[in-house]
Amino acid sequence: MRFLITGVAGFLGSHLADRMLAEGQEVVGLDNFITGSPDNISHLLGNERFTFCRYDVTEFIYVAGDLDGVLHFASPASPIDYLQLPIQTLKVGSLGTHKALGLAKAKGARFLLASTSEVYGDPAVHPQPESYWGNVNPVGPRGVYDEAKRFAEALAMAYHRYHGVDTRIARIFNTYGPRMRRDDGRVVSNFIVQALQGDPLTVYGDGSQTRSFCYVDDLIEGIYRLFTSDHVEPLNIGNPSEFTISELAELVLDLTGSTAGVDYRPLPEDDPKVRQPDISLARRTLGWEPQVDLREGLKRTIEYFRAVLAKGASQTRGQATS
Ligand code: UDP
Repeated sequence: MRFLITGVAGFLGSHLADRMLAEGQEVVGLDNFITGSPDNISHLLGNERFTFCRYDVTEFIYVAGDLDGVLHFASPASPIDYLQLPIQTLKVGSLGTHKALGLAKAKGARFLLASTSEVYGDPAVHPQPESYWGNVNPVGPRGVYDEAKRFAEALAMAYHRYHGVDTRIARIFNTYGPRMRRDDGRVVSNFIVQALQGDPLTVYGDGSQTRSFCYVDDLIEGIYRLFTSDHVEPLNIGNPSEFTISELAELVLDLTGSTAGVDYRPLPEDDPKVRQPDISLARRTLGWEPQVDLREGLKRTIEYFRAVLAKGASQTRGQATS
């Protein structure tokens, strides 16, 4: 079968491409590299079942030949990215989703939307089941991402109901692992890079806010099972083990052996105070739950960033001497 992945050079898009290729499928990947990186897909470029096109998916998408699936992963996803790219974030969630759905409809392909736990905003219900409608500030700084994804979900359901497109909606909770950018700005990558460089970890607020972190391999397994299931309504995919940001900082300091401690910074506006997925539905319908605990996932991610930083250091030395 042949699948299109938008945002293929991103953190999740590239892992999803690896998974689809490992399943023996063909992958057509699109990315405009505004937050994705060519490094994430460089290992795929010799693969005859992989085709890449540098493209902005807010424009009309033309793909020759048949497609069996369209998986829409393009979007800035880190708060610092979508605060710097507010219009692009709104456009890719709205216009980009429209183009991707239009393509799925034209090809008779199944469609999967990478949605987000941000649709729940700063939640008044905890943990968050799919039936919760959320608590989002539409005009706050995070509104550009949250509302774009909420619109994208509404559009996917409309294409399903009105045009009969076979749609899936994954509400993705905080995910971490290899291929996050070192300057991505999200908490796991920030803390690991800071710890490995001997800098204090930047804890925003008092560190009592919580998140529930899912290792990328678990997340991709959940996405794959959702895509191949017949479940149309939105589905939470995430790890329900919840930690405060201070607990995460302690763990990263412990696992890296850093003694640099923490540096408290102001809490960003509208930063959700708690977040934890209720994954009962995923357990029931997909038989899925995460396998990798935070300690193990962090160890793997620390190894990745150690290698990235070592490579960066040798490149910098190379430039300095050439
Ligand atoms: N955070 C932090 N230090 C950082 C980056 C983030 O304390 O260097 C906090 C942030 O304020 C939030 C949590 O960690 O409460 C998760 O932030 P992230 O940007 O990873 O994703 P979010 O879940 O907010 O989308």
